[in-house]
Amino acid sequence: MSSATLSPALKQATPVVVDHAKGSWIHGTDGIDYLDFTTGIGVTSTGHCHPKVVTAAQEQCGKIIHAQYTTVMHKPLLELTDKLGEHLPAGLDSVFYANSGSEAVEASVRLARMATERPNIVVFQGGFHGRTVAAATLTTAGTKFSAGFSPLMGGVHMAPFPYAYRYGWDEATAVAFALRELDYLFASRVAPNDTAAFLIEPVLGDGGYLPTPPAFLAGLRERADKHGIILILDEVQAGVGRTGKFWGHQHSEGLIPDILITAKGIASGFPISAIAAPTSLMAKAWPGSQGGTYGGNAVAAAAGVATLQVIAEENLVENARIRGDQMLRGLSELAPKFPQIGDVRGLGLMAGIEFIDGDGKPDAVAAAAVQQAAIPEKLLTLTCGPMGNVVRLIPALVVTEEEMATGLNRFEAAL
Ligand code: PLP
Repeated sequence: MSSATLSPALKQATPVVVDHAKGSWIHGTDGIDYLDFTTGIGVTSTGHCHPKVVTAAQEQCGKIIHAQYTTVMHKPLLELTDKLGEHLPAGLDSVFYANSGSEAVEASVRLARMATERPNIVVFQGGFHGRTVAAATLTTAGTKFSAGFSPLMGGVHMAPFPYAYRYGWDEATAVAFALRELDYLFASRVAPNDTAAFLIEPVLGDGGYLPTPPAFLAGLRERADKHGIILILDEVQAGVGRTGKFWGHQHSEGLIPDILITAKGIASGFPISAIAAPTSLMAKAWPGSQGGTYGGNAVAAAAGVATLQVIAEENLVENARIRGDQMLRGLSELAPKFPQIGDVRGLGLMAGIEFIDGDGKPDAVAAAAVQQAAIPEKLLTLTCGPMGNVVRLIPALVVTEEEMATGLNRFEAAL
């Protein structure tokens, strides 16, 4: 019998192998304690192995692990829906569950097409919505997610995102430009009354941790209302407290999406995702047309209930805001000392540090070098951005003041 090795496609960015993890810390098999500012790409919101999440999952395993909710409903999913409902925007009173962000993105787009009977979806430059074929079609944060397996899904059109730093403009100018380009797209190539949905993140995640300006989201809402287009907000990475508000879009006062997508932080590491929409809209998808076998798994749902309880009990949304301010302030203070840093931005516990070369061009080599240099400093970070030149810091919502100070010191040492 032959033995197997991991596929080259699973190549790691760091040599760390986890033995066990707790809170903001990963304990490697090398005996080293690493400060984890990656959280499994924004997933372990309550920190690694929060005791209440662990207990909830363990207890649920002894009751029922899996019952497909289209056949037999289970208690954790009802409780999770109830808890989630406390946070959902007005009118989004119906929830549908899947396992991953990509599946939820696909469900939202399918729903928008079914509801409007229109083919087109407009996405925005630098958006990341996943890697399954349809989700990869909707993803424009770099070409690596879709290169080599065309043809992709049809009917997807990309419009500019107001990336003020890279354009070299102020935010208002960038927003006005991007909205004008969107209007031009509608006037020239894609009929708005053939458009089912806008799909956008409140903070571009893999696209480089760029907060979407509220004025841009307001412009999308206005156009969506005018043309009967569904506004889908992908809160997979920015939701569940990460930005210092429960939802990333709450930084845009008064904004209400038609469909909201959530995943990642909702269950502290257990795979579950959801879309929320008004019941009248959700009813346009006929039973059995969406989802999959494992959607809304009972153990994941129980972990989700515990996660939302912990977030409330420990005031973690507020902690994300305060520690996020500490992180962005600290990074902004050290940036002037390092000419390779072109921009520091973010929202709450999402910080992006954009690296540039001597000509101001994106420098992915520098970003990767900083990520590697952070490993001996015992700090784990991620890179992102369509050009790969952004280091992102995405600590757990439970991060303490001291841990944040340690993380900033270690990051400076890596720089
Ligand atoms: N949408 C956003 C904003 C994401 O950040 C991600 C994953 O990083 C996805 C969708 C896809 O989620 P998943 O990897 O769970 O399929």
